[in-house]
Amino acid sequence: MLEALRTPELAPLVAWIEAAPAGREILERVHRGAYLDALAALAASGGGPLDADTYLGPRSWEAAQAAAGVAVRAVEEAMARKGGTAFAAARPPGHHALAARAMGFCFVNNVVVAARHAQAQGAARVLIVDWDVHHGNGTQALVEADSSIRYVSLHQYPWYPGTGAAEERGVGNVFNVPRPPGLPRLRYVRDLLDAVDAALAGWAPDVLLVSAGFDSLAGDPLGGFTLQPEDVATWTAELRARVAGRPVIAVLEGGYRLDLLAAGVTELVRALA
Ligand SMILES: [Zn+2]
Repeated sequence: MLEALRTPELAPLVAWIEAAPAGREILERVHRGAYLDALAALAASGGGPLDADTYLGPRSWEAAQAAAGVAVRAVEEAMARKGGTAFAAARPPGHHALAARAMGFCFVNNVVVAARHAQAQGAARVLIVDWDVHHGNGTQALVEADSSIRYVSLHQYPWYPGTGAAEERGVGNVFNVPRPPGLPRLRYVRDLLDAVDAALAGWAPDVLLVSAGFDSLAGDPLGGFTLQPEDVATWTAELRARVAGRPVIAVLEGGYRLDLLAAGVTELVRALA
């Protein structure tokens, strides 16, 4: 991904910014202090498993704070100018992380940390669009009682983590689009945009955040969707048009075939630029 963003084609479009790690106060807008303490303590003792597929290594806590810091800085950069855009190129991902529980490779919910930071900077209403192939159960759980944030997710279903049924509506602010694998790619493209349009009916966000997962591309080992990298460009352009003039920030989530990750990020960044 980083190599792709440094190619001669993209390099003139990209300004690189190294962000500081997210501080405790910023993380505690989303996560419980005792949970953050436990992650720090586990990392300091050499690390260990937190669930069947989420292992905290000795430097994972450092990485998680860094990734959240990148999402926060991306918000600040995009909000600093009209129609500003930014991409948070960071791992570990975040959308499965709950207030006090790590799961699905996620420790800190970067996109919700970003949403709360945007609100602290004066953006009252935040739209989060999640096109990772998995449902962002953590994101949904963290925002479903708060009508100032709307969450739209397209995801394979039934699939990990098991949540994301269409009936899960929060306080009317959750818009789930569960779909089986193997549909024609334009179905996925259109169905996500239709759900975004439903979320935007009579409601205008001040900031758009994208949970940009690239495991929804055809060929990813962890998903069965049929999307092509150019569909990422379509989504990005369509979403930008729908929130014209508002900041747009994409935060990296999943994507487990590195060539597809690079191709998808290339389309995303070109469309953001
Ligand atoms: Zn995923």
